[in-house]
Amino acid sequence: MLHRLKNDFRLSIITLLGASAVLGITPFAVLRFLQGNTMAGLLDTVILAGISFGVIYSWLTGNTRVGGMVLALVACGGAVSVGYVVGEPGLFWLYPCLVTTFFLVAPKIAIVLNIASVLVLMSFGEAFSSQVQMWSFASTAVVVSACAYVFAYRNKNQRVRLEHLATIDPLTGVKNRRSMDEALDLAAANAEQTGQSYALVLLDLDHFKTINDDYGHGVGDSVLTELVALIEHNTRKSDQLFRYGGEEFVLLLPGVDGVGLQSVMTNLQQLLRRRLKHPGGAVTASFGVALLGHGESVASWLRRADNALYEAKESGRDRIVYADALAQAGSGAGRYRNSRQPSSKLAEVSPAVNPTQNPAAPSAGSNASVKVRK
Ligand code: GH3
Ligand code: MG
Ligand code: MG
Repeated sequence: MLHRLKNDFRLSIITLLGASAVLGITPFAVLRFLQGNTMAGLLDTVILAGISFGVIYSWLTGNTRVGGMVLALVACGGAVSVGYVVGEPGLFWLYPCLVTTFFLVAPKIAIVLNIASVLVLMSFGEAFSSQVQMWSFASTAVVVSACAYVFAYRNKNQRVRLEHLATIDPLTGVKNRRSMDEALDLAAANAEQTGQSYALVLLDLDHFKTINDDYGHGVGDSVLTELVALIEHNTRKSDQLFRYGGEEFVLLLPGVDGVGLQSVMTNLQQLLRRRLKHPGGAVTASFGVALLGHGESVASWLRRADNALYEAKESGRDRIVYADALAQAGSGAGRYRNSRQPSSKLAEVSPAVNPTQNPAAPSAGSNASVKVRK
């Protein structure tokens, strides 16, 4: 519950406003019934019910757009009705509503709601004791709305920028390690629920330090951005690339295993060999690949991919090492319930890979060996 409040800004606003509204309106509802003003008491009760519905709906469905809209409509509609029923004292209730609409719904909708609320109250006229009071109310309502708009706009802008800074690698524009941790946790939870297969590829550029040393840091940076562009243009939308740190990247591939995974990996390796260059020639990479095991923790999954990468480096670089024994053609990995194939843009666009090829044997026409760790 606390986690949801912390991570969902609109839900936290809905909850806060809902709680304050219930606490603030309930005494008035009781008082109005006690004073014999049944109409106003009933109105307060309807407002309380509407606000409670919006809060409960948001919590149960997670749909805070609809929940926020319900709250904004009930608050503005309620405030206008209270102004109409109880007259002058009811007008004050519209001010908090004019401010909160900007935190509950999109700015354009909030502006329309606010203007409509003020115009409806003005058109009734009965709520105001004089013309001067009515126009003073209209002017102050506009000032309050304008200030709330500016504040809500700046707040949203800063939140988006902060989120960007916290999750995106500034050099390459891909998600950083923090985002990767979240994505891997999500993948593991999804695999547990649906049986979806996931492959994790740990990629490390070979002898990258030499490129920096020989041609400068700027050239090294260009190689990194070029690598990201190549991978992003040649993978599916559902594949996710993260910068793990330095010249190491993680590629998360959902719905891929067995022969499909071998095909994707071989094509990725060939693509980089062909297209990734620095002034002195081609840049190669080493890959450690691990499939998420049934009930396996993210830490263990990453560790197996890391060990596989280590082995790829140790055995000569520019190669792919699989942490798992992959199934032969036609059978899939066997450990996953819903594995789908073919699985990747890389698999689709590349020349066909012999499906009967033994994953332990070196791939034809290349100097890379695709090894299997038992
Ligand atoms: P190996 O084949 O064993 O992976 O060797 P390597 O040289 O690629 O690996 P090593 O860990 O020795 O060096 C990694 C280098 O990556 C060192 C570091 O300066 C460089 N590096 C890390 N981040 C960046 C970056 O953002 N830009 C540039 N240009 N270089 C970076
Ligand atoms: Mg390296
Ligand atoms: Mg490295």
